Amino acid sequence: MDILNINETLATIILAAIIVLSVLIPYYIKKQKNARKMAEKIDEAKKTGRSKPFSRHPQFNVNACIGIGICTRVCPEGDVLGLVKGKVAIVKGASCIGIGECARECPVGAISIGMGDISTREDIPQLSENLETNIPGIYIAGELGGISLVKNAIAQGREAVDAIFTQSVENTHVMIVGSGPAGMSAALRCVEKKIPYTIIDQTSAGGTILQYPRKKMTLVQNVELPLYGILDKGIYSKEELLEIWKKVQKQFSIDVKESFKLESIKIQEKGFISKTINGEFESTHVILALGRRGTPRKLGVQGEDKSKVSYKLIDASSYQEKNILIVGGGDSAVEAAIGMAHQYGNKVIMSYRKENFFRLKSRNETQIEEMMNKGHVKVHFSSNLMNIEDDSVILKQDQNEIKMDNDYVFIFAGGIPPYALLKDVGIKFGSKVENKV
Ligand SMILES: Cc1cc2nc3c(=O)[nH]c(=O)nc-3n(C[C@H](O)[C@H](O)[C@H](O)COP(=O)(O)OP(=O)(O)OC[C@H]3O[C@@H](n4cnc5c(N)ncnc54)[C@H](O)[C@@H]3O)c2cc1C
Repeated sequence: MDILNINETLATIILAAIIVLSVLIPYYIKKQKNARKMAEKIDEAKKTGRSKPFSRHPQFNVNACIGIGICTRVCPEGDVLGLVKGKVAIVKGASCIGIGECARECPVGAISIGMGDISTREDIPQLSENLETNIPGIYIAGELGGISLVKNAIAQGREAVDAIFTQSVENTHVMIVGSGPAGMSAALRCVEKKIPYTIIDQTSAGGTILQYPRKKMTLVQNVELPLYGILDKGIYSKEELLEIWKKVQKQFSIDVKESFKLESIKIQEKGFISKTINGEFESTHVILALGRRGTPRKLGVQGEDKSKVSYKLIDASSYQEKNILIVGGGDSAVEAAIGMAHQYGNKVIMSYRKENFFRLKSRNETQIEEMMNKGHVKVHFSSNLMNIEDDSVILKQDQNEIKMDNDYVFIFAGGIPPYALLKDVGIKFGSKVENKV
C-alpha cells in the first residue's frame, strides 16, 4: 500500500514536472529566439549606421521599465525600439521621428521624449529659449534645431516671429529661409502681425512633406497654424497637407520664392544680407527653417540639369515602359530600383561605383538579389555615370564606355547637410546658449 502511495506521489510529481516543463521549455526557446532576432536587428542597424537617433527620441528610466513591450508595438515607425534582456532599448534610432506614442502608451511612465545630452552634438545649434541663435537677430525654427515633427515645426515658426515681434526694431523685415511647416507658419504669422517678410526655398513650397511617398499618412498632433486654425484631424495624407499649404499660400498671398537656395549670410551693422543663387535680400532678422535633410548631392556630370533627372522617387507607379537608370547603391537607390522593376514594362539599370552592395537592409539585399537573378534589374558595379543625353546615358566601367537608351535618371548620392552654412555664418553648435555674442 505504502509502495503504491509512493508510486502515486512520484507519478504526480513527474506529471507536474512534465506540465511545468512543457510550458517553460517552449517559453525559454521563444525567449532565446526573440533575443537572437533582436541582436540581429541591432547588428543590422549598427552596420547600416541607423542605430543612433537623429533628433528627438525616447529616453528610458530602465529601473522603472517592467518589460511589457507595449512601446515596441505602438511605434508607428517600426523597429525603433526593442526589448533587450527584458528592458526597452533603442534598436533603430534613425527611424525615430519623435512622435512619442511609446511615451504615451508606457503604463509605468518609464519613457520620455527628449534630445539626450546635446552638449557634444555638432549637429544641434545653440538656441535660446526664444529660438535665437548666438547671433542676435538670427533664429532657427523647426527640425534644423533638432526638434522633429510637423506640429513642432509649425509651433516654432510661429514662436520665432512672436519673439521678433516683441522687439521694436525700426523697419523690421524678416527673411524666412525654407518653406516647410516651420517656414510657412512663420510667414503666416508675419502676415497676421503685419510684419514685412520674404520667404524663399531652394526647391518648392512644402518642405520635407513634398518628399513623402504618395498618400503617406502623416500623424499631426493638434497645433494651431496661424491664420488657418487648429489642425486637429490627427492623421492627414501627404496630399491633404500640401492642399492646406496651397490654400493658405493663395488666401494670404504668400509668395514663396522657389529655387532660391541660401548660400551665405553676411552680418551687417543693422541686419543681414542673405545671398542666394538668384540674388541677395536685406533684412533685420533671419529665420532659418531649413530642416535637416540638406541638399541632394549632385554628381556634376554633363546633362545633370536635364528635367529627366531626379534626386527622389515619390511614386514608382507613374513610370511604366521606360528605360530607367538609378545611380547609387544604398537603400534608397535599391528600394527605387525594386519599386520601378515592379512596374509594367520598365527596363531598370543601376550604376554603382563600388564592387558590391554593402550595408543594405537585409530585406533590400534579398529582394535586389532576386531581381538581379531574374534579370528584372541589371546592376553595373564599379561604374560611373559620365554623360546624360536626351534619349541615352553613358556609363564608364573598366575603361569601357557603355551607351544605353534612357528616359529617366534617378540619382541617390546622399545629401549635403546644412551645418557648414550655419557654421560659416558663425552660429555655434552644442550646448544651450548662455552668453550671446
Ligand atoms: C519619411 C518621413 C516621414 C515623416 N512622418 C512624419 C509624421 O507622420 N508626422 C510628423 O509630425 N512628422 C513626420 N516627419 C517629420 C516632418 O516631416 C519634419 O519634422 C518637418 O517637415 C520639419 O519641418 P521643417 O519646416 O523644420 O523642415 P522641412 O520640412 O525639412 O523644410 C525645410 C525646407 O527648407 C528648404 N531648404 C533647405 N536648405 C535650404 C537652403 N539652403 N536655401 C533655401 N531653402 C532651403 C528645403 O527645400 C525645405 O523645403 C516625417 C519625416 C520623414 C522624412
